[in-house]
Amino acid sequence: MARITLKDVAKFYGDAQVLFDCNLEIADHEFVVLVGPSGSGKTTLLRIIAGLEHISAGDLYFDDRRVNDVDVADRDIAMVFQNYGLYPHMSVYENMAFGLRRRKIPASEIDRRVRGAAEMLNMAAYLQRRPRQLSGGQRQRVALGRAIVREPAVFLLDEPLSNLDAHLRVQMRAEILRVHRAVTATAVYVTHDQIEAMTMGDRIVVMHEGRIQQVGTPDELYDAPANRFVASFIGTPAMGFIEATLEGEGDRAELVVPGLRLNLAEPQRKALARSGARQVSIGIRPERLVLGDDPSADWRVAGTVDVVEMLGSEQYVHFSTEAGSLTARVSRDHPLKVQESVTFSGAAQHLHLFDRETGKTLA
Ligand code: ADP
Repeated sequence: MARITLKDVAKFYGDAQVLFDCNLEIADHEFVVLVGPSGSGKTTLLRIIAGLEHISAGDLYFDDRRVNDVDVADRDIAMVFQNYGLYPHMSVYENMAFGLRRRKIPASEIDRRVRGAAEMLNMAAYLQRRPRQLSGGQRQRVALGRAIVREPAVFLLDEPLSNLDAHLRVQMRAEILRVHRAVTATAVYVTHDQIEAMTMGDRIVVMHEGRIQQVGTPDELYDAPANRFVASFIGTPAMGFIEATLEGEGDRAELVVPGLRLNLAEPQRKALARSGARQVSIGIRPERLVLGDDPSADWRVAGTVDVVEMLGSEQYVHFSTEAGSLTARVSRDHPLKVQESVTFSGAAQHLHLFDRETGKTLA
């Protein structure tokens, strides 16, 4: 059992600050994913939770116990890394049993745990093999097994699937979630892959430049991103943006975009007026652009096709407008060609508005 709480956690390496004001509460049994581009501070935050990095400022709690100065060995955690770190000269069984033997756990108990974990991971037939006699996926399972047998309160996983090919990654995602449900420990999982984050996390923590940008369920992050960074990072293909200027005052204020006709919804007008922002980015998700010039739509945008990506079931159409580039998901029933002129329409409620200066969501 462990609830993990970070309060105003900061990290410096020498003079360089790499984590800023990190506040986060992870519930007992929760599966939380830290996601962000390379260098955003995910691994550093995970290593702080593990006790492998010293906290420069702020507090870390496991349940109600402050653990800032508690040694790694006394935190009741198990880690799984990208490089499995298996002992090449030991069998699968011995790799899993090694840590338990060192802790003087009775042999019968070790045997029970190792066989239980092997069963859970479909590795029971491979217990006598050496790591080099295993596939990448099987090695990753051994690394997971070694963590499971410790029966920790907290699992910490750092990009555990990034050495696997795409197909196996998808399979192992499901497997890790199944294991997590079976062992009911709290899990913190680091990845740079937003699809992995979206498919695995009960909640996702999006990081950028050492700061937590937003914490939420996959739905919350997708539907209501807190800022332009989260909006563009979450979702495939990514949200497109066009740039607009607010002209006029109060009720008569209007968003003006070259090449776009636009009727905002009332709550959007109010949010814009409240914010005082003049420079606005409008974000549109690819599936919200409907091909065609629908006169009754809230907005219509015209442009020229730059690239068409054919995916079999559908196509991603990247096109330029006077105010920026957008991407649309279009059915194959409407084949489009590069250089073709296109018009898309849509509903106002599906537009995301951001203050261009601060990047914050306006409505
Ligand atoms: P991520 O896991 O998101 O890729 P990291 O947590 O590894 O990011 O790194 C965050 C920042 O901290 C990066 O700018 C990185 O260069 C810096 N950093 C990480 N470890 C060290 C270290 N031991 N010494 C100095 N800087 C470091």
